[in-house]
Amino acid sequence: MKTLIIANWKCNPGNLVKAKKLFSAVKKGTEVVKGVEVVVCPPFVYLSKLSGLTLGAQNCFWEDEGAFTGEISPLMLKNIGCKYVIIGHSERRRYFKETCIMVNKKLKAVLANNLKPILCIDNINQVKRALKGISKKEVKKIIIAYEPIFAIGTGKVCSISKAKKMNFSIKKILGETAAILYGGSVNSKNAKDFIEKAEFQGLLIGGASLNSKEFVKIIKKVSQV
Ligand code: PEP
Repeated sequence: MKTLIIANWKCNPGNLVKAKKLFSAVKKGTEVVKGVEVVVCPPFVYLSKLSGLTLGAQNCFWEDEGAFTGEISPLMLKNIGCKYVIIGHSERRRYFKETCIMVNKKLKAVLANNLKPILCIDNINQVKRALKGISKKEVKKIIIAYEPIFAIGTGKVCSISKAKKMNFSIKKILGETAAILYGGSVNSKNAKDFIEKAEFQGLLIGGASLNSKEFVKIIKKVSQV
């Protein structure tokens, strides 16, 4: 199974020229890399302007169409070639008051549109609540990103032993073959340990994905694992 490296650009960069520059640097830098699937999740407005790497969205709504001002639907994302959608990121839960009920609805909508959901969780309770009413067959399609809140954008990385314990606790719920990622202050120095020692299948990377050199360095390090 390939190592999955997801770039979460969050609300960056501020214009398309910079977005294209960052994207092409990552594309160029990873051309010869083997065994890694690189997914870039830029802001919605850049999705249709970037090509050549797998694309993901950072969020979506739970309905496909309708009177929901300001929302972007999973159907729209699918129709512009998006493959992955991040759901329940801690910043959405914190700043936009997304609840586990909303996360559950989004997860179901993403699955119904045959997109791959990357469900971000901080604890086991959030996993259980997000999966409510989703069949075993569908649960197998969900990628989980363990993102301890204290580690998001803080430079305070989670210990390998704690992360590994969480990885295995999540697998007890989703099954041994589930794709579990780690996210939280990953950089080129600590990335390899999360794959090699904590046995994650991949990484969700925020801050470090905005620096093409550092991001490519991370990808190259994990491709050697
Ligand atoms: C994230 O936003 O999902 C994330 C992991 O951020 P950072 O890498 O900056 O901690």
